Amino acid sequence: MNLAFRVYQLFWEAMDWLFPPDCGGCASPGSRWCVDCSHNTIEITSPICPVCGNPNLTDTVCHRCRSSHPLYTSLRSYAVFGGSIREAIHRLKYQRDIGLGEALARPMITTLSKLNWSLDIITSVPLGLVRFKERGYNQATLLARPIALCLRVPFNTHALSRTRETKTQVGLTINERQENMAGAFQAMSELVQGKKVLVVDDVATSGATLNACAKALLEGGADKVYGFSLARAVFSPNDDIDLS
Ligand SMILES: [Zn+2]
Ligand SMILES: [Zn+2]
Repeated sequence: MNLAFRVYQLFWEAMDWLFPPDCGGCASPGSRWCVDCSHNTIEITSPICPVCGNPNLTDTVCHRCRSSHPLYTSLRSYAVFGGSIREAIHRLKYQRDIGLGEALARPMITTLSKLNWSLDIITSVPLGLVRFKERGYNQATLLARPIALCLRVPFNTHALSRTRETKTQVGLTINERQENMAGAFQAMSELVQGKKVLVVDDVATSGATLNACAKALLEGGADKVYGFSLARAVFSPNDDIDLS
């Protein structure tokens, strides 16, 4: 039995008993993430591009990854960004509903376990200092920590840091996103040297953020970089993406 993960879950079960929660997706009382919202969530399944994980017509490398191969090895996401999961991410990010981290990490763990990735360290996409100070916590860390505990992989928030603030990605095209994120991260070499690193995020869209993380981690000596997000804003390559 994984005692550390069980203790973590017991803590949240005790919190639920003390402060009965409502659902992060639909606000119905009784649980942090209800059965209905869980059932209504559209999981991202095959066929997908094996590299960027975006839905594809076949399970082959997509046109975009073929023309410019990302620096990361693979990116996967649990569900399509929309409906209840969109609402839940909003609450996780902006309304201090931090218990949602543990609740939403559960289906992520199920999906991630099936991938059989060999991982040495797990980290989360860091927030800029300004945003971290405003919010007081990093929503991606709230998802990454229980995943690491459950999978028994060391977790470290210091593996990556921001070198500068970036503007919001809302309304930016894929190329603009890549430019916006380029050089935005640095890795702590002592932590990632020779390691297979998993970077966790709440939402992935074009993969630009993960690619910038991968660049920093590989420059820091990491062996391979994987990405996993709770949700994915599914795009077609010519889309102007708007996550507002
Ligand atoms: Zn619900
Ligand atoms: Zn692809």
